[in-house]
Amino acid sequence: MNDSVTSANAAPVKTELVALTGVNKHFGDLHVLKDINLSIGKGEVVVVIGPSGSGKSTLCRAINRLEPIDTGSITLDGQPLPSEGKALARLRADVGMVFQSFNLFAHKTILQNVTLGPTKVRGLSRAEADQSARALLERVGVSAQADKYPAQLSGGQQQRVAIARALAMDPKVMLFDEPTSALDPEMINEVLDVMVGLAKQNMTMVVVTHEMGFARKAADRVVFMADGQIVEEAEPERFFTDPQTKRAQDFLSKIL
Ligand code: ADP
Ligand code: MG
Repeated sequence: MNDSVTSANAAPVKTELVALTGVNKHFGDLHVLKDINLSIGKGEVVVVIGPSGSGKSTLCRAINRLEPIDTGSITLDGQPLPSEGKALARLRADVGMVFQSFNLFAHKTILQNVTLGPTKVRGLSRAEADQSARALLERVGVSAQADKYPAQLSGGQQQRVAIARALAMDPKVMLFDEPTSALDPEMINEVLDVMVGLAKQNMTMVVVTHEMGFARKAADRVVFMADGQIVEEAEPERFFTDPQTKRAQDFLSKIL
């Protein structure tokens, strides 16, 4: 089945998967998300960039309800995000998240890290979960490490395991919050390559990163945030070569 239909203007109109409408969020007096409207289509790759403190992490965390919002709505596949119970656990499975810090369980093996969620939340048998976990570890290039513990792996390997662990839940969308910013430079590409591979396989992705190479290779759209607002959105080449707002121009002049 094809998710996209072609409009008269020939631009493919994708089925909406995630929609944020009029989203506001405060931390005390601090207004961190200001009337955010963002629609993410199935299979779309959205890169979110912007200065530190602009609300990028809060935006990601809101999408899997690690942060509740004050006003507005967020839907996944047309359904409002659930707030508790089994439905919330399923949401967290449907919305895979990869953080800057790898967050693997230190006292479980690599294989156990990947099988835990599928057996607990998705109800897979151990054999099914093991088989699928080994295939995922192979896909991210760490199958030889399956029986080791996280501390025995490099940062780049651990982050690839974290990606495999999220994928094991068969998510509808993957959120990446600065997934390479804690890595030594020589390990950044091995993680970005896995992400580019996912994008090519039509995974829906929201990626907070300042890695322009990744954005150019994999993103359909760049969303530039500043001060809790979406200030500019554009296709990557356009955004990086011809930003329209002063804030985006200033930001890019600092990171390019
Ligand atoms: P970014 O990821 O773009 O750096 P964040 O979403 O982490 O931005 O943070 C946005 C703002 O909200 C920052 O000013 C940050 O200090 C503040 N903030 C983030 N999390 C919390 C929290 N749990 N409590 C209070 N303030 C927070
Ligand atoms: Mg952040």
